[in-house]
Amino acid sequence: MGASRVENSKPHPWGRYAELRPEQISSIREQSNIAFVPWGALEWHCQHAPIGLDSTKAEGICLAIARRVGGVVLPAIPMGVNTIKPFKGFPHSIDFSGDLVAEVAAAFCNQLADEGFQIVVLLTGHYPPEHVAALEEGASKAREAYPDIDFIVWADNELMGEAYKGDHAGATETSFQLLFDPSNVDLESLPDRPLTLDGDGVMGEDPRDASEERGRRQLTIAVAAAVAQIEAIRDNEDTNKSQ
Ligand SMILES: [Zn+2]
Repeated sequence: MGASRVENSKPHPWGRYAELRPEQISSIREQSNIAFVPWGALEWHCQHAPIGLDSTKAEGICLAIARRVGGVVLPAIPMGVNTIKPFKGFPHSIDFSGDLVAEVAAAFCNQLADEGFQIVVLLTGHYPPEHVAALEEGASKAREAYPDIDFIVWADNELMGEAYKGDHAGATETSFQLLFDPSNVDLESLPDRPLTLDGDGVMGEDPRDASEERGRRQLTIAVAAAVAQIEAIRDNEDTNKSQ
């Protein structure tokens, strides 16, 4: 009983991994052999935005890509390396070592390859270099174990290229939050002065310049870049198979 949790955005079905029954996962995997692991963090994002912004953002972008190319989207993993707590001392952040995150990333990659997925994407909404390096390390361990599987690490700011700059709790991230879950954004809570990294934990443009509409434009650009790369990988696989 109940509505199907397999969404048929033809020709590529997709669903949220944690909500699917076994035969639904198998059916999606047969038609759209790709798994997305959104990677987030629990991290101070100034007074106006929630601690889980990076997770919400990564999951929202993964779901939008899956609607286009199919596949399964796992729950967001809230494990950030080098959060703003060790960097600038802001509270409420939960910080993880690079070694631990690399190990967890390798486990997700290896397990999803073992489950028969051909493309595994780790898409991170938290992107200090040390954090991205930890995910890359995990993916490269998996490449050694499963050389025929495509393991991809993306940060959302990379997918947007030059169009919108990645930031921290600034206009770009806040626009994504306003797009995916505006209920917990409170711009009124901000002090009536320019925001700074040391005082407020904000990097980039002022979050008061954020909007849902801008979030939608950012998403369109990120999804287009991701879809193009996934289609190129799939074309390549088809060519290899037909040879
Ligand atoms: Zn963030």
